[in-house]
Amino acid sequence: MLTNKLTTYLTKLIKTCPEIEKQFIYSKQENREEKSTFSDPLMEEHHTVVRGLVHKYHNRALILLTLNCAAYCRFCTRRRKVSDIQKGVLSDKDLNNIVAYIKKHPDIKEIILSGGDPLTVPILLQKMLLKLSKLPQIKIIRIGTRLPVTDPKKINQKLIDVLKIIKNKTIYILIHFEHPKEITKSTIIATQKLKQVSTMLLSQSVFLKNINDSFDTLYELFSKLIEIGIKPYYLYHCDPVKGAEHFIVNIRKEIKIVTKLRKNLSGLAFPIHIIDAPNGSGKIPVPLEFWGVKLNEYKDFNNKRLKT
Ligand code: SF4
Repeated sequence: MLTNKLTTYLTKLIKTCPEIEKQFIYSKQENREEKSTFSDPLMEEHHTVVRGLVHKYHNRALILLTLNCAAYCRFCTRRRKVSDIQKGVLSDKDLNNIVAYIKKHPDIKEIILSGGDPLTVPILLQKMLLKLSKLPQIKIIRIGTRLPVTDPKKINQKLIDVLKIIKNKTIYILIHFEHPKEITKSTIIATQKLKQVSTMLLSQSVFLKNINDSFDTLYELFSKLIEIGIKPYYLYHCDPVKGAEHFIVNIRKEIKIVTKLRKNLSGLAFPIHIIDAPNGSGKIPVPLEFWGVKLNEYKDFNNKRLKT
């Protein structure tokens, strides 16, 4: 069961913006039992090779460093386990097992640190980064976080010093933004600090019903992000997660909005609109209205046909 958790900062912010409030506050709609959704839509448990490490694609691997976040998003893909802090804590032994597995798989060149929010556990993060820094096979480290939105003051000098540990690797920090009102002064300051340690800041966003499923909202979000030096990277169709059904936007509506965004945003501000295939087999780009294609099905990375 996903815990309700907010920061003092967010508690103030949600008073000014119902669209942000809906992302974090429990709703009765989470209890409806839908047959078409899954507790683990991306099949991460199936691809977990050692505790805390998901290996799905040959050249990159995902480390779930913690199940803690500063605040919990009700639409989280990992809501089956995020917020279960006790279960989520990785021990030194787990970190060593992760490193041993990576060493045995020299094809792994890129590590994605996620969770939970890896920036909320700086001590553990420091331990993991020290170990990854010593692996010459690792060229890229990606860090996924929502901390600049949920508790921007936590992006402090101590945390920046932890991130500075990474040497000789390219670092990309991916920040989760869903609504333009999340881009406050404090958040901008936090992202500026992260620029000191990141090769590039990118954003990822999820289409959310009655929150950001309009052209105007997303146009403002992506325009603001590119203005503050964050490249909009992914715009996800909400995963079919049990308990998050009420957030899912009709794919045809999404395509209409994204097509209009393509006509109006600069290429730099335009993200890739994708469906993360519900069997865990690839992030599939969604076509725009410029092409006459059937929208009732698509193929995943294994050529398997899936219904939209
Ligand atoms: S910050 Fe990320 S991991 Fe945490 S609840 Fe939100 S989406 Fe899930």
